[in-house]
Amino acid sequence: MPEPAIITKLDLSELQPGRHDLWFRAAETGIGTPIDLPIVVLKGSPGRCVYLQAGLHGDELAGVAVIHHLLDELAEVQLSGTIVAIPCANPTGMLAHSRQARAASEGLTLTDLNREMPGQADSRNPNTRFAHALWDRLYAGQPDVFLDLHTMTHGNNFPFFVFADRSDPAVDRLVRLVPADQIKDDPGEPGSVETEMVATGVPAMTLELGASKTFDPDLTRRGLQAVRNILIDQKVIQGKPDMLGVTPFAGSEEINIRAARGGFVDMHVALNQPVAQGTLLATQHNAFGHHLADYTAPEAGRVLSIATDPMREPGALLVKLLK
Ligand SMILES: [Zn+2]
Repeated sequence: MPEPAIITKLDLSELQPGRHDLWFRAAETGIGTPIDLPIVVLKGSPGRCVYLQAGLHGDELAGVAVIHHLLDELAEVQLSGTIVAIPCANPTGMLAHSRQARAASEGLTLTDLNREMPGQADSRNPNTRFAHALWDRLYAGQPDVFLDLHTMTHGNNFPFFVFADRSDPAVDRLVRLVPADQIKDDPGEPGSVETEMVATGVPAMTLELGASKTFDPDLTRRGLQAVRNILIDQKVIQGKPDMLGVTPFAGSEEINIRAARGGFVDMHVALNQPVAQGTLLATQHNAFGHHLADYTAPEAGRVLSIATDPMREPGALLVKLLK
């Protein structure tokens, strides 16, 4: 296993065909140590370039397993195109079990990199500069398709879920290849990789694979199949797309049920469960054990996320419904 080369800019045109393990030197800390990201490039014959990223939210690890399994299964495969895999897009967050990137500036600076794109080279916030390094020197106008792998945030859970702007036909084509439980047609979040890629004409999706800080074998299997299907569609690999018998539930509106009080919550519904208006979703007790509140579905929908951490502060998410 050769020691990965260090690069400060990824220029795919400079690389020979084959596998390249690289350290992308994105930034440096306050004591001058580098902030490096592991990158794997699989370069085949000329064709489409698919970027596959995980861990931009540092506690969302499920995509790492998808990338590792994909690299394993493509080890002996001749590609007609290129795959750029970024398994640990937010090292400062990942090492601190944190969604946000971290910098030491001003006491502690926490930044959601998936609201920060394309970043800014001369920002006073080191994390915003880091976002710019990804956008400008790692993505650098090179992807034809961008798949950003996420999970729900700490203390909550998702099924296999996709955010995508289906009003873009090239995005909708990708969405139809994903054996997800649920899909939300969504205009996007400004500053997210998905939305900023779509704005520059690169079809992109945010794939959510369950809960933070865990590898779930079924979600890995289905996430991997989604990536395989898209690589087949883009003619990077050969084969037939397989939806694994899944017909996703598609919706366009989220209903968020949030805690009114601080206290401990018992959940009465499960992921993917269809609920009617008025269904009891959760009950909450205070720290003394007295009943505080019942939470019911304001409208009918499908359970898209549930709180897994029972302690909820006022305003914290309990249940998300998709309709
Ligand atoms: Zn995320």
